[in-house]
Amino acid sequence: MSANGAKINLYDLTLDELTARLAEWGYPAFRARQVWEWLYRHYAADFGAMTNLPGALRDHLAAEATLSIGEVVLSQHSSDGQTNKVLFRLPDGQFIETVLMGYEKRRTLCISTQAGCAMGCVFCATGQMGFLRHLTTGEIVGQVIHFARELAAGGQYVTNIVMMGMGEPLHNYEHTLASLDRLTDPTGFNLGARKITISTVGLVPAIRRYADEERQTPLAVSLHAATDEERSRLLPVNRRWPLRELMDACRYYVEKTGRRMTFEWALIAGENDTAEQAHKLGELLRGMLGHVNLIPLNPTAGYGGKPSSPERVAQFQEVLTQYGVTSTVRVRRGIDIQAGCGQLRDRHLLNNPRTNTGHPAPH
Ligand code: SAH
Ligand code: SF4
Repeated sequence: MSANGAKINLYDLTLDELTARLAEWGYPAFRARQVWEWLYRHYAADFGAMTNLPGALRDHLAAEATLSIGEVVLSQHSSDGQTNKVLFRLPDGQFIETVLMGYEKRRTLCISTQAGCAMGCVFCATGQMGFLRHLTTGEIVGQVIHFARELAAGGQYVTNIVMMGMGEPLHNYEHTLASLDRLTDPTGFNLGARKITISTVGLVPAIRRYADEERQTPLAVSLHAATDEERSRLLPVNRRWPLRELMDACRYYVEKTGRRMTFEWALIAGENDTAEQAHKLGELLRGMLGHVNLIPLNPTAGYGGKPSSPERVAQFQEVLTQYGVTSTVRVRRGIDIQAGCGQLRDRHLLNNPRTNTGHPAPH
């Protein structure tokens, strides 16, 4: 147990920490490796399933530890069956969302790194709820394990992960990076580092710090506007780190890692989908090793903006092409199940207002 008497989430531990803990209980290192495999290779749902462990160790684990990230409060499938969104309630009553998206051979999981978010981007449902808390490494990794377990039952597995759920991954730097280590560990979950994408709103010092780590895991920056005036209006963080500083950090990342930088751009009708913004963006990225993902806005309750029309999207993309800037239009997935980050929690709390207060939810 932890110092305050709560059970330890085994997904919060590194293999070394697990080994040390089991050693305290008198077990040799190979027992920790066995537990590790149950966690990251078999996604065991309970300690009883860990059949190659001595019964006394299983009992000890059950008494002192958990394998859980929380309770599944809602699980919704989109009408085309390709998207599954789950709302988890964490032990302290916070909610997080995770979305699984199927594309032909890919199974891409969109995971949360915080409950709420401190960055306040005006169009984002998570930003509208404010910052609640950081997730632990175990809570980040646990979302993946939940879906890996479900997919394994059908002979499938998680092929890609995007850190684009609730929260700003680089604001929760330590736990985000620790979860990368956990998910790419060859003795454990063993997902390729390139199969994970971290998306950031543009925390300049953290981008530089991440670049210095020279990791294989790609970074995406949520740009959404190519002038300071427009970007500060949509993303308050731009007032702290304006475009010039952000682009310097992005160029530093590209130089340091040799990797291209992906830029995200949620197209909002009449706001950031204008010819002027497209030309400014072209100028900003011309000659840079970068790529733009254009995503029509997903409307949220707290923001009046509308998604751009397909014609506008095409015009915007055409301008970028003139500057030699490549871009992809992303289809919005799971729109019928509120699959934009933060939206499922909002709807759940609307229907179950008391769950926000830590009272038991009426399910
Ligand atoms: N905090 C990180 C990652 C989570 S948000 C970040 O901001 O990058 C993941 C992506 O979804 C970001 O690009 C974000 O700008 C975008 N996003 C948030 N709300 C959206 C909405 N309503 N419509 C379209 N994209 C949205
Ligand atoms: Fe936070 Fe990202 Fe939403 Fe901005 S878009 S409020 S950084 S989760």
